[in-house]
Amino acid sequence: MKLEPYWLATAPKFGAAASGPVSGKVDVAIVGGGFTGLSAALALAKSGASVAVLEAGRVVGEASGRNGGHCNNGLAHDLGGLAQTLGLERASALYRAFDVAVDQVEVLIAREAIDCDFRRTGKIKLAAKPGHFAKLEKSAELLRREVEPDLVVVQPRDTRSEIGSDGFYGGLVFPRGAHMHMGRFGVGLAEAAARAGAAIHENAAVTGLHRLSGYAHRVVTPRGELEAKQVLLATGASRQGPFAWLRRRIVPVGSFIIATEPLSENLAGSIMPTRRTATTTKNIGNYFRLTPDNRLIFGGRARFALSSPTSDAKSGAILQARMLELFPQLAGTRIDYCWGGLVDMTSDRLPRAGERDGIFYSLGYSGHGTQMSVHMGQIMARVMGGDTAANPLAGLDWPAVPGHFGPPWFLPFVGAYYRYQDWRH
Ligand SMILES: Cc1cc2nc3c(=O)[nH]c(=O)nc-3n(C[C@H](O)[C@H](O)[C@H](O)COP(=O)(O)OP(=O)(O)OC[C@H]3O[C@@H](n4cnc5c(N)ncnc54)[C@H](O)[C@@H]3O)c2cc1C
Repeated sequence: MKLEPYWLATAPKFGAAASGPVSGKVDVAIVGGGFTGLSAALALAKSGASVAVLEAGRVVGEASGRNGGHCNNGLAHDLGGLAQTLGLERASALYRAFDVAVDQVEVLIAREAIDCDFRRTGKIKLAAKPGHFAKLEKSAELLRREVEPDLVVVQPRDTRSEIGSDGFYGGLVFPRGAHMHMGRFGVGLAEAAARAGAAIHENAAVTGLHRLSGYAHRVVTPRGELEAKQVLLATGASRQGPFAWLRRRIVPVGSFIIATEPLSENLAGSIMPTRRTATTTKNIGNYFRLTPDNRLIFGGRARFALSSPTSDAKSGAILQARMLELFPQLAGTRIDYCWGGLVDMTSDRLPRAGERDGIFYSLGYSGHGTQMSVHMGQIMARVMGGDTAANPLAGLDWPAVPGHFGPPWFLPFVGAYYRYQDWRH
């Protein structure tokens, strides 16, 4: 078993990174070479701006290359619950922003000819306990009326037409959900940005950010420094760099994934005949999908811990046991890859984007961001050009998480709370 993300291990290497020191003057410096930063770089470079991306590691080396491979439309929230806090109009508008985001991913893939197996398979949200189906069915009315007209309710007795497991009790099918190969998409996106003229520096962690007069910011990395008129922070769950204000608002939460060996056509068909992306109704639930070569990619918040090779391997063992509980037909199936990543969680699980003290930012996708990060990269390119009305996230207030100053010491307690909730309801 390899302790690395399947997506990165099976993607071509990014071959167009800028060489030499970080130096000079640019219109825009982008901190972070995940989907948000690369998508913004592509849009800004196409609009004629000079752009430098400063990435601490390798492009898409963090959440963008370590996720579950789902690219689903809509919100992961319960729409009714969110409407209670934001009002139905705002909640529905946010839901639709995620629909547009998947459309934009699809358009970008076609325009830049990125070979990444993008497929609109639909998503199924599965009831993980018998009592959860009634809640799903109830939420379906509002979803259908407001945002998801083609939603399908799968009755508990029909679950096996969707999933070859006795562990679920009906569900909802969201037909516009999609999936893709995240590594091939990310490298294709980075290459498109480089082709458009963006200089993409890998291994260039930003360690200092200083305000200047005239040219507005000095951006410092161990590989040199540059001056930029504008700066966009696209740093996800970053734990490095001078971004204390963001770190008080983003909680880095580990999420873990395993990928099986390729399954036979029969076995893959017996597990997920419709090949959708799948999520479940539990707080600490699982998410899974098949790849085109029939591997099962199976993830979850197996433990409330950060990601590291030891932590990933421990979580992988828990995930494998859970996978076998749900799909006993996979007994004897080899696990080829196991990895983890950090989710950039906000307290209400909604992303945030805007400007603070002359610095732009977009992050906090809370585990549902493969589509929105790409979309928000494009949106922030417009916002930085003066079109502030383009930002669908504008106006969401963003207080610091109480007691959170960086290291997420409280995660085990949060984990225990959610486990209790899952046991009770
Ligand atoms: C395990 C896991 C599973 C997920 N599954 C899904 C899923 O199935 N579907 C879905 O929609 N979403 C999923 N997500 C979320 C999704 O992957 C993210 O929302 C999305 O990729 C965020 O992209 P980003 O560019 O904002 O952040 P990232 O991809 O994290 O990129 C941020 C980049 O900033 C760099 N950086 C940080 N600090 C500095 C610094 N000081 N200087 C320079 N660079 C810096 C980092 O190295 C990193 O490359 C998952 C996330 C994880 C971790």
